[in-house]
Amino acid sequence: MKPVGPIPAGYETIAGELAIGGKRASELVAEAGRTPLFVYSRAHLDARVAELRAALPTRVGLNYAVKANPHLAVIGHMAPLVDGFDIASSGELALCVAVGIDPRRISFAGPGKRDDELEAAIAAGVTLNCESEGEGARAVAIGQRLGKAPRIAIRVNPSFEMKGSGMKMGGGAKQFGVDAERVPDLARHLIGEGAEWRGLHIFTGSQTLSADAIIEAQGNVLELAAELADAIGHGLPKLNMGGGLGIPYFPGDTPVDLARVGAALSERVAELPPVLADTELCIELGRYLVGEAGVYLTRIIDRKVSHGVTYLVTDGGLHHQLAASGNFGTVVRRNYPSAIATRYGAEATEEVNIVGCLCTPLDRLADNAAMPRAEVGDLVAVFCAGAYGATASPSAFLGHGPAAELLV
Ligand SMILES: *Cc1c(COP(=O)(O)O)cnc(C)c1O
Repeated sequence: MKPVGPIPAGYETIAGELAIGGKRASELVAEAGRTPLFVYSRAHLDARVAELRAALPTRVGLNYAVKANPHLAVIGHMAPLVDGFDIASSGELALCVAVGIDPRRISFAGPGKRDDELEAAIAAGVTLNCESEGEGARAVAIGQRLGKAPRIAIRVNPSFEMKGSGMKMGGGAKQFGVDAERVPDLARHLIGEGAEWRGLHIFTGSQTLSADAIIEAQGNVLELAAELADAIGHGLPKLNMGGGLGIPYFPGDTPVDLARVGAALSERVAELPPVLADTELCIELGRYLVGEAGVYLTRIIDRKVSHGVTYLVTDGGLHHQLAASGNFGTVVRRNYPSAIATRYGAEATEEVNIVGCLCTPLDRLADNAAMPRAEVGDLVAVFCAGAYGATASPSAFLGHGPAAELLV
C-alpha cells in the first residue's frame, strides 16, 4: 500500500459524496455536463487570501501569479481580492484585461518576451520585469516608437536561492533575470533612456514548505534590494519579493507555518533601512493561492484486474493532471491526495491503481492506494488541482481534449 497525500481542509461530505461549494460531486458533473472536470472553490480562494492578509504585514501587498491558474472566472474572482497580477505572456495579459483588471496593477515577467508582447504591455501601461539588457533595449526602442515611457522594473538573478525549494529560480547561471552585479548599471541606463523606473523583482524559488527557508530568503531579498537601491541611487518605488510558499501534495508534507513567516516579515519590515523606507512591497503567489482550491473529477470507465492488481481506469489522466501523474518535475512518483468522490469518507477496503485513459504507462493518478470499493461510473477526485493542472498539462495529447472547468 502506498499512502496518498493529505486532502486539503475545507471539503465536506454530503449524502456520502465529496461536496464543493455546497454541491455534491455528481451534481457538479451534471452542471458541467461532462467529465473530466476541474472544480475551483470560491470559498477556498477567499479563505486563503484572508489567512494571508491576517498573517502578512499590511505594508506587504499580495500578487497573484496568473500562470498557476488562468481560468477566466478564477482571475475574475481574484481581481478584487489581491493587489496585483503577475503575468508571463501577452495571452495572460489579454485574460486580465478581459476581466477588467487595470493594467497598472499588472507586472510581466518571463525570459523571452517578443516585441509584440512588449508593445502590448507598454501600450497598456503594464510594468515589465526586465530580464536582460537586450530586452531593456528593445523595450526602450518600442516605447520611443509608441511615444510612451515603458514602466520598467528589473528582475534580479540573485546569488542565493530559496533552500528546499521545489523549483530553483535563483543562484548561479540562470535564464531568468539580470545578474545582481549588473543591475545598477542597467537600471541607471534605463532611467537615463526615459523609462519609468518601477524597481526590482527578486524571485528565489517555488513550492517551499519550510518557514525557515522562506524567512531566510525574504531576509536575503530585502538585504539585496537595499544594496542595489543604494548602488542605483534613484530610490526604489517598488520591490516584488517573490513568493515560494508551497502546499502539501504528498504524504508527510506539512503546511507552511504562515504565522511564523508573517511575524518574521513584520519584524523585518519594521526595521527596513532608509533606502527602502518608501518602497512599496509585495509578494507574488501562484499555487499557494489557488492550488488547494481545485479538485479534478474524473469518471471510472473500467475496472479490471491484471495479475492480481486492480486497475480503476478513468476518463481523465495526465493530459489534464500532468503533475499528479508524476511527470511534471518530480523525481520519484508519489500519490497526490485522491479519493473516490462518490463514496467519500467510506472505509477503504481494497488497494487499487487509479490510471488515466491514455495509451502510456506514465498515465497514473494513484498507485497502490487504499480506497473504498468503486465501480464503473463512480467519480475519482484528485485534490490540489487548482494550480498547474488544466493549462500545465498536454491536453492535446491523444486527442481527448481539455477538461471542463467550473468555479463554484
Ligand atoms: C511561476 C512563478 C510564480 C508562482 O509560483 P508558485 O509556486 O505557483 O507560487 C511566481 N513568480 C514568478 C516569477 C514565477 O515565474
